[in-house]
Amino acid sequence: MIYLDNAATTKPNNKILEAITPYIEKLWQNPSSVSPESKEIKNKIEEVRELVANSIGAKPNEIFFTSGATESNNWVLRGFQDNYKNRKCHIITTPIEHNSIISCLEGFDGNYSYCKIDEKGIVNRDNFKEMLSKLYEQDIKILASVIFGNNEIGTIQKIKDLSNLTHKHFGYFHTDATQVFGHIPIDVDDLGIDLMSCSSQKLNGLKGTGFLYKREGVRIKPLIYGSQENGMRGGTENVIGIIALGEAIKQINYDREINIKKVRDYMIDGLVEMFGCKVNGSRTQRLFNNISVTFPQKIKGEELLEMLLLHNVYCSSGSACNSYDNKPSRVLSAIGLTDEEINKTIRITLSGYETMSYIDIILLIFEESIKILSSRNEV
Ligand code: PMP
Repeated sequence: MIYLDNAATTKPNNKILEAITPYIEKLWQNPSSVSPESKEIKNKIEEVRELVANSIGAKPNEIFFTSGATESNNWVLRGFQDNYKNRKCHIITTPIEHNSIISCLEGFDGNYSYCKIDEKGIVNRDNFKEMLSKLYEQDIKILASVIFGNNEIGTIQKIKDLSNLTHKHFGYFHTDATQVFGHIPIDVDDLGIDLMSCSSQKLNGLKGTGFLYKREGVRIKPLIYGSQENGMRGGTENVIGIIALGEAIKQINYDREINIKKVRDYMIDGLVEMFGCKVNGSRTQRLFNNISVTFPQKIKGEELLEMLLLHNVYCSSGSACNSYDNKPSRVLSAIGLTDEEINKTIRITLSGYETMSYIDIILLIFEESIKILSSRNEV
């Protein structure tokens, strides 16, 4: 299998499996019970909490385990509105957020608005500042929620600048760092992040686990009430997922990410030179493993993906979360692509284990597939 869909999920490796096995076979007790095994499990959870906190320059009591970034995102938006329901509050976000932000905002009658972005998907600073000022003048409590690295087009935002502007207007700054955590170093203090959503499955951990970083003093209500996680997130802990997250964090290697960037650029150049592809998103402010390209040939992205699958090459048309609704990608349309261009767009996300010669082989598979599809569509 040539798996090039690492933004959708990543493969848990043997070390992850080794780390979780004892918690399936022997240490399966409820972490909140009084048995020695339960205490051991509880201690291990706290160890992972510390690992997570250290990896982003936070304190352990600022980390809350969740079922993933979808829950963390929903928690922030709803928990903020719930906390400030007795005074005016407003959420500023972007049109290129993950569906778990947009659907959540659209799903309940919260106050929110989108700031402008440019054709690379970068937040329009003047517009963002203007929106903040207007709300601040009306004494409205603000939450700004801006995706750190976009899951479809890879664009990375200037988080430090945006959080700084938000703080000048006494707002909270939240970022969905799902595609960034574990790939680019994050220091929440340096970047001025108050709330941050992350998922374990994007760094070789398991699906269904993630966390929310919430700076001490930042006030949001829980989304899921109960006694665990200091009363902020109820439900028996996903012990296996949390253990896997701890092991995944131990395996983070930022140097490897620099290598991915070289291989990614090599592949982008190949796609542009061989097929005349248009690259979506920023070439410079971009996730190291992300390639989003639109083909000029008479082919549909879906057809190309199927043809590639026949060669065991796994890519995607955009976000895996949207692959079952047939609507054109909201993100690609927000950066100005037409429906036709969106239909000719695919996303390739590397794992870091690819070499340049491996990419050469993949490009040949692309060439073969495009040749067959173009001639078929000519008829
Ligand atoms: N935000 C972004 C940017 C993502 O890429 C994803 C995963 N596709 C999520 C949120 C949701 O993560 P999870 O499925 O782990 O809840």
